[in-house]
Amino acid sequence: MTIEITLLGTGSPIPDPNRAGPSTLIRAGGQQLLVDCGRGVQQRLAAVGGSANALSALLLTHLHSDHIADLGDLLITRWVTTFTPDAPPLPIIGPPGTAEVVEATLRAFGHDIGYRIAHHDDLTAPPPVDVQEYTTGQVWDRDGVRITVAPTDHRPVTPTIGFRIEHSDDDGTASVVMAGDTVPCDSLDELATGADALVHTVIRHDLIELMPQQRIRDICDYHSSVAQAAATAKRAGVGTLVLTHYVPAIAPGQEEQWRALAAAEFDGPIELGDDLHRVEVSARS
Ligand SMILES: [Zn+2]
Ligand SMILES: [Zn+2]
Repeated sequence: MTIEITLLGTGSPIPDPNRAGPSTLIRAGGQQLLVDCGRGVQQRLAAVGGSANALSALLLTHLHSDHIADLGDLLITRWVTTFTPDAPPLPIIGPPGTAEVVEATLRAFGHDIGYRIAHHDDLTAPPPVDVQEYTTGQVWDRDGVRITVAPTDHRPVTPTIGFRIEHSDDDGTASVVMAGDTVPCDSLDELATGADALVHTVIRHDLIELMPQQRIRDICDYHSSVAQAAATAKRAGVGTLVLTHYVPAIAPGQEEQWRALAAAEFDGPIELGDDLHRVEVSARS
């Protein structure tokens, strides 16, 4: 059993010509789970042979704009490119507030939805969704893939959640934890304990603190630095640390500097890179 992690978008709220907004594709046991849906997510999905209509579920860590920027595009595109009648609704699992955001997004596209229903005989209802809000516990158990959630700490953004995705077969269980945006906290440590990989968003406190704008410096207090994410990985005893959501964007040639900051705290494999960077994890024996 394996789990494949693809960093679809490694960017941040600042538009970048080379990095899409935060979004990660998890493929396990034939299921495709999209974690967050930042700017440009569908172009990146297409680049790896994925598509909105092939997703098994959308998982949202929190409702910050950079993580849900393309939610409307994703819902509409899935709807208009699903040609099988009575297709099941898209499961959307997120923290409390998710249902309101999804509803408001569909309302914002209400004119579009009306035009398409009027124009196509086989479209008779708005995009079907099945929104489930959680802050803790098991939220998914299907064909060998299990997902549990736990609270993270991105205050004053609240509630926020991390996901632990496990894929089991006769050979064992592989596990990946998606931390999202968070400072170090006990519930994330617990969620990540023993995971084969931890995917963590990071910002360079050392660089951001030099910025002249206070509004930019503000972000240090609710995001983990590279060292903090690596320390979380070490405390939790994870196999591989995967860094994403780089703020500021990793400058060309600076990858090893970022890796060294993590390696000072965590001695396992450290993965980072450009959009579409892929990591395959198996259960550690
Ligand atoms: Zn955030
Ligand atoms: Zn973010």
